[in-house]
Amino acid sequence: MRVLITGGAGFIGSHFVRSALDGRYPFLAGAAEVVVLDKFTYAGRAENLAPVAGRPALDVVRGDICDAPLVAGLMRGTDLVVHFAAESHVDRSIAGAADFVRTNVLGTQTLLEAAAAAGVGKFVHVSTDEVYGSIDRGSWREDQPLRPNSPYAASKASSDLLALAFHRTHGLPVCVTRCSNNYGPYQFPEKAVPLFVTHLLDGRKVPLYGDGRHVRDWLHVDDHCQGLALVAQKGQPGEVYHIGGGTELANRDLVARLLELLGHDPSMIEPVADRKAHDRRYSLAHDKISAELGYAPRVRFEDGLAGTVRWYADHRDWWEPLKAAAARTGEREGA
Ligand code: NAD
Repeated sequence: MRVLITGGAGFIGSHFVRSALDGRYPFLAGAAEVVVLDKFTYAGRAENLAPVAGRPALDVVRGDICDAPLVAGLMRGTDLVVHFAAESHVDRSIAGAADFVRTNVLGTQTLLEAAAAAGVGKFVHVSTDEVYGSIDRGSWREDQPLRPNSPYAASKASSDLLALAFHRTHGLPVCVTRCSNNYGPYQFPEKAVPLFVTHLLDGRKVPLYGDGRHVRDWLHVDDHCQGLALVAQKGQPGEVYHIGGGTELANRDLVARLLELLGHDPSMIEPVADRKAHDRRYSLAHDKISAELGYAPRVRFEDGLAGTVRWYADHRDWWEPLKAAAARTGEREGA
């Protein structure tokens, strides 16, 4: 079996690659080839694949998913594509949306064309709950209308629609997954959990958007990747699957837990002006994937968060250079 993983050097993609090569997804255990295609943007890190570097089954290709000839060549003989590659940070999409449209929309279309031409056996398109917009009460189901608010979410919604259209038009066996907010090791320190944790480890205050009452559903990256493996193995072509974590928390409550874990008090919170068009609440119903494919999140949030804090405390060598580089280039650290 040959598996092509786009964005496999990023946070979630690298977790999937490390887990697959460690034999944690039985149906992939015998995969003869795991090919990572990654552009190594600021978010793609060779260090994320260091634990599996040199494995005979792993082939890492530095390249752009928008590069049609490269993608066509890699697609030949591929049985399964798991498509993670994306520009993924909402704040960056507010500052400028061009890279988001290019990679998330054109890049996905380039992959889909090549996958259809090569007769790929399964194409898993990894997406987000943010495509639905914001929900005050209840939870989204998979057939909910898409009402994205940020340019990031709009670019992901566009790519979801393209992926489903390639199934209907060309019969490409596509599954779309939409997950909630991931957390865990190797997440770039611009995203909320690693930003807060690394700031607190350095004795810096944590920036909290607006009134801090924005609610997110938290999903450990390991549970997300387990869900993706189930979809890759057993998902029905043309279907959308939600992968939720089951722990909804207001941002200020998330910060309170981190302050407690790291031995700080609320004076370490620094309220900052709210993000533009900041979605108030995300909530996914994930009973479809549970009933049809046997998914259940396994990592208790308390354990997952404590483990994540420990990982950042133990891996300063991973994140300190990233924060130093961001500080040198004057990049805004988002929250
Ligand atoms: P990430 O930003 O950590 O990693 C993205 C990876 O894609 C990086 O390795 C980057 O180098 C690569 N990449 C970017 N542009 C590329 C291009 N043009 N060609 C090839 N590679 C390119 O992102 P992540 O958090 O790991 O997210 C992975 C996927 O999951 C994304 O599609 C994202 O939309 C989705 N998602 C993430 C979350 C989350 O909480 N992190 C939640 C829902 C959905």
